[in-house]
Amino acid sequence: MSTLQAPTGLGKTAAVLFPALVYALSAGSPVLYVAPKNSQFKAAVDLGKVFQKSRIPLKVLVLTSKAKACQKDEILCQNSSCPFATNYHDKVEENDLRTRDEKRHLWDYRYFQKLSEQYEICPYEIGMERIRAADLIICDYNYVFSPHANFLDRYLDPIVPMKKPVLVIDEAHNLYERVIENYSPEIRLSILKEFFSKTLVKDEAFNKIIDQAIRLMKTLSPPASSAKIKTDGEAIKELLAQTLSLMTARWGGDGLPGSEDPLFQFFTLWYDLNEMINVSQESIPLIYKRENGDEVLKAQCIDPSALIAPIYDNFLGVVAFSATLKPFAFYQHMSGFDLQTSEAVEFGSPFPREHKKIMVIPQVQTNYRERDRHYQRIAMIIERVIDLQSGPYLVFFSSYQFLRAVEAELPKGRDWQIFSQSSSLSGAGVQRIMDLLEDGEGTRLILAVQGGSLSEGIDFRGMGLRGVFVVGPAVPSATFERKLMQDHFEQLSGNGRAYAYVYPSMTKSVQAAGRIVRDESEKGIIILMDPRFVEKDYAEAMPDDWYELSAKELVPKQILAEVKEFWDQVAGNVGHEVHGKAKGPIGEDSLSV
Ligand code: SF4
Repeated sequence: MSTLQAPTGLGKTAAVLFPALVYALSAGSPVLYVAPKNSQFKAAVDLGKVFQKSRIPLKVLVLTSKAKACQKDEILCQNSSCPFATNYHDKVEENDLRTRDEKRHLWDYRYFQKLSEQYEICPYEIGMERIRAADLIICDYNYVFSPHANFLDRYLDPIVPMKKPVLVIDEAHNLYERVIENYSPEIRLSILKEFFSKTLVKDEAFNKIIDQAIRLMKTLSPPASSAKIKTDGEAIKELLAQTLSLMTARWGGDGLPGSEDPLFQFFTLWYDLNEMINVSQESIPLIYKRENGDEVLKAQCIDPSALIAPIYDNFLGVVAFSATLKPFAFYQHMSGFDLQTSEAVEFGSPFPREHKKIMVIPQVQTNYRERDRHYQRIAMIIERVIDLQSGPYLVFFSSYQFLRAVEAELPKGRDWQIFSQSSSLSGAGVQRIMDLLEDGEGTRLILAVQGGSLSEGIDFRGMGLRGVFVVGPAVPSATFERKLMQDHFEQLSGNGRAYAYVYPSMTKSVQAAGRIVRDESEKGIIILMDPRFVEKDYAEAMPDDWYELSAKELVPKQILAEVKEFWDQVAGNVGHEVHGKAKGPIGEDSLSV
């Protein structure tokens, strides 16, 4: 098992997948490549084509989610309600669809949609049937890391056992948060009450069960607004048993209820909760909280390692990689890797270190209590740094509110083009920004948030970016759940604050900073604003090539003079004129506006 970190934009996916495929194929096993977003599948599909061009007949299977593959408006997979499910097996067998196009190299969404339309069969199901025939299977994390995951069930058929696949996890810094999300089911009092109105006719038997569930929530509710609670789970099991018996009475012997059926939805809510509270009170405590006028009963996953680790037993080998997996001990633990037996390797950037200037400006405070006194300073630093070198820049904030506040302080009447990200930014909006960066001229300023669609999984290579400003670390809010996580890791490793707040925020900051200098011709500046960036816990999440001994090396004596010096040094290669003199120092004493 290995954890690999390398900078963004180097072709990591191909570099990791290639040896994984060679190793797996020589052992007669397939590779399962998982990523958090479908948009990341392309690099893996492209590598499959490279094998095929070299006359290695690699069969690549791309699985899409059921929601995307489904031909109907609602997922109701019953013979009676979906023609694509009706006589599915007969249609598949009559037309040899399990083995059709066996020699084809790519079985993807379009291929299965075509089969589905031609033979009126479910495109999702026929895709799943190809799992055991593929050499490279490409899919979302949820196929493996979810309580409802069905990849392994399909693959590890006990009747016809197959060789274990090699698992390759891309953008692995996302894995632990996805697992936390997937394994933290909750029940809201408001949702329970809605079930009363969901039944079309008055449903006495079901209403009685809903009443019982609401009473159960009241019994469990603690005096405090948020608290961990203990239960032996008997009352929940009893509620589930009664719901199941009502379901059996209604549908016994006559198929299953649809996923939209209120009784089935009610059962699923409690079933998921019950599954998780039986795992471990330590890593998934049961909590009760009151928020926004509602009450929530939740199994909150705070340490996913014990959930993930056993999943790896199903694989021949596991490789997890990303541009941000530091500190390794944190990501190895959170990803379920055994620290003693797994390897961790960091690859540095192959591009000259002189091509980027990294600075920390500790005089700017961005923490919630003090930031409003610094909005003007931040705007002033951005303006004066940009005045030394025009071109496109990215500015990443920790929240939309922070972004808007600084945007209001930016100088008016300049010939800059400014685009600020909103929470509803669509794929088309992202494309407009790419066009602005690619085709525009002069200073273009993209104001965005860390952890958003403009700071991760997006490649601005070749767009001539001059710099990235990271305005403060995006430290998670101190919610009740976060505090539980902090306490848990404080007890486990004495590192609670770093595990719950510092490392997750630094992943976002380093990802944002990584948007620049993505090939050997690019040069640019990275400016991080906040004194926390030089603290030990924050600094140990930075890539090795950012500093030698201490992150304090990144604090400039004179900000503008050093930025100008950097541009002077690289000016010959940048092809842009460095504008005039640095306008007076922005040193420690001169940050006031
Ligand atoms: S059987 Fe397939 S097409 Fe029909 S509802 Fe289910 S997922 Fe959709």
